[in-house]
Amino acid sequence: MEDRGDGLRLVLVGPPGAGKGTQAEFIAAVLAVPKISTGDIFRANVATGTPLGVQAKRYMDAGGLVPDEVTINMVAGRLAEQDAADGFLLDGFPRTTPQAVALDKLLADLGSALDVILELIVDEDEVVRRLSGRRTCRGCGKIWHVEFDPTSRDGICDRCGGALFQRDDDKAETIAERMRVYARDTAPLVDYYGAQGKLVGIDATGPVEDVTVRANDALRSYGG
Ligand code: ADP
Ligand code: AMP
Repeated sequence: MEDRGDGLRLVLVGPPGAGKGTQAEFIAAVLAVPKISTGDIFRANVATGTPLGVQAKRYMDAGGLVPDEVTINMVAGRLAEQDAADGFLLDGFPRTTPQAVALDKLLADLGSALDVILELIVDEDEVVRRLSGRRTCRGCGKIWHVEFDPTSRDGICDRCGGALFQRDDDKAETIAERMRVYARDTAPLVDYYGAQGKLVGIDATGPVEDVTVRANDALRSYGG
């Protein structure tokens, strides 16, 4: 980590369903940095019907990616907020090489740089099982799974009592398209960050708590 006396600038990469959102919450709390999830920001905009949400929705529903320019502008705005000045955890961004290049430039212009990219490694069969059973709380956003991480009462969040919902893009045909998009547009980032010497991969199979331990162990040497 560059010695700037501040928090970690971290990116999580991995296929849809790898557990990025699940782990992001724990890792961001340990590192005391804000979690910035582009998927969450788009979904919040869809839910409130903003122009950005209206624009993003058709790409999301089809399992595609929101155009780079729109996404990069949104992230640039978010990273300019005060709470991201001393480190952040990005979940779901970058997802294309142009996004990664733009992020590097954005940070360089601010006199900083990413410290580490944590890759969550899970095979495709497992991520499909994870996505098919994913449920999210409408109240607090906590991520559950009907089989792997069930709530004690069906459809009700154990943490806040909110109602759970299934994401529109977690349908079988959309999942298949998202996997294709990941392989084509996002997987090349592993080489991009590998070439920068900033990539650390962990086995993201097994219980959620075990993956969290592996993630925190991997980040410790970066000051995490
Ligand atoms: P991503 O943000 O990478 O798309 P999520 O964090 O939303 O993935 O996880 C996808 C689904 O898999 C969720 O239903 C979550 O509860 C479940 N999940 C996450 N981590 C694990 C794990 N280690 N084992 C089993 N299921 C998991
Ligand atoms: P996620 O919650 O990360 O699975 O994202 C849900 C959807 O939001 C994706 O399938 C895309 O349609 C859109 N999205 C999220 N992040 C990005 C990004 N970095 N670039 C383009 N589209 C994105």
